[in-house]
Amino acid sequence: MNEEEFYRVYSKYLQRKYGEKVYKLPINLPVTCPNRDGCVGTGGCIFCGEVGAGFENLSNTISVREQLKKNMDYIRRRYNAHKFIAYFQNFTNTYTDIDTFKMYIQEAVVEDIVEISISTRPDCISDRYLKFLSDIKKNHKIEITVELGLQTVNYHTLEKVNRGHTLGEFLDSFIRIKKFGFEVCTHLILNLPWDNMTDVVENSKVLSALSVDSVKLHSLYVVKNTILEDMLINNEIKLISKDEYVKRVITFLEYLNKDIVVQRLIGRAPQDNTIFVNWNTSWWKIKDEIISKMHKKQTYQGIKCDYLNGKALNQFRK
Ligand code: SF4
Repeated sequence: MNEEEFYRVYSKYLQRKYGEKVYKLPINLPVTCPNRDGCVGTGGCIFCGEVGAGFENLSNTISVREQLKKNMDYIRRRYNAHKFIAYFQNFTNTYTDIDTFKMYIQEAVVEDIVEISISTRPDCISDRYLKFLSDIKKNHKIEITVELGLQTVNYHTLEKVNRGHTLGEFLDSFIRIKKFGFEVCTHLILNLPWDNMTDVVENSKVLSALSVDSVKLHSLYVVKNTILEDMLINNEIKLISKDEYVKRVITFLEYLNKDIVVQRLIGRAPQDNTIFVNWNTSWWKIKDEIISKMHKKQTYQGIKCDYLNGKALNQFRK
C-alpha cells in the first residue's frame, strides 16, 4: 500500500525538497532541561527518563563535529548518501547560554549538511537565539527547523504531566519562530492518560489553524523510576489499548490539514529500562495497522478538515 495516499509522508517531503533522500543525524549535547534543573521545575515531565529522548545517540562528551563525522561516514558508506540533517535531538537543545549555543550550531555547519533541526521546549525560544539561527540560514544556505515539544494542547493535562509550560508558551514560541521563516515541527503524545478523543481532535485543529509545517506523534511509554511508573503501579492512571491508539491516530489525521507533513505516527522507544512500550508490538507493525485501517475505512489526512476559514459561511457559497 502506498503510504502517501493516506497522509503526507516526511521522507517523501524531504526527497522532493532536496531532490534526493536526506538522512537525519542525531547529535547529543551536554545540556539538561529547565524542567529538571529547577529553573521552571524539578523532576521533569512525569514520563521523562534520565537519558531524554535520544537513547540511540553517541556520547555527549564527543564534539558536535565529531558526532556528525562518525554518523555521516557510516551512513555514506551504507547508503551512498549525500545530504544530511544535523538533528539536535536530546533534552532541550537551546537551553544554554548564547555563546555556547552558537558554538554548537557553528560546529554543525559542514559540507553536505542541508538543514539543522533543533529540538527544544516552548519556553526555551527567544528572538536572540532565533536571530543567530537566521544568520546561519542566510550565510550558509542551511535550512532551519525547530522541533517544539508540546505533547497536548490540553493545558490541564500539561499541568498533570508537570510540563512546566502551558499552551500559551507554545503559541508564543511558534509565532516567534515563524517570524524568522523557519519550519516548525510539533511533537504530540496522543495517549496521555488524561486526554480523550476530544483532545485528539483539538490537537489536530490547533495545529491546522496554526499551519505548523510538520508533526511528530509519539505514543506514551513508561520508563522505570519515573513518576509515571509509580502512577501506573498504584493504579492512579490507565493506559489506553493499542486499538484505541490506532483510532486516535486515524482521527487525528482526518482532522489534520492535508498540507502538514507527518514525521511519525508512533514513537520508537527503548525496550531497556521501560515497563511499557508500544503494547509490546513493533512500531512498524502499528504503523502498518494504522494504514491498513485507513485503507479499509477509505479515509485519509484532511478528510474532516472543514472547520477553518469560516465553516458556518460554507452554506452561502455558490
Ligand atoms: S521537557 Fe523533555 S527533557 Fe525536559 S523534562 Fe520534559 S521530557 Fe524531559
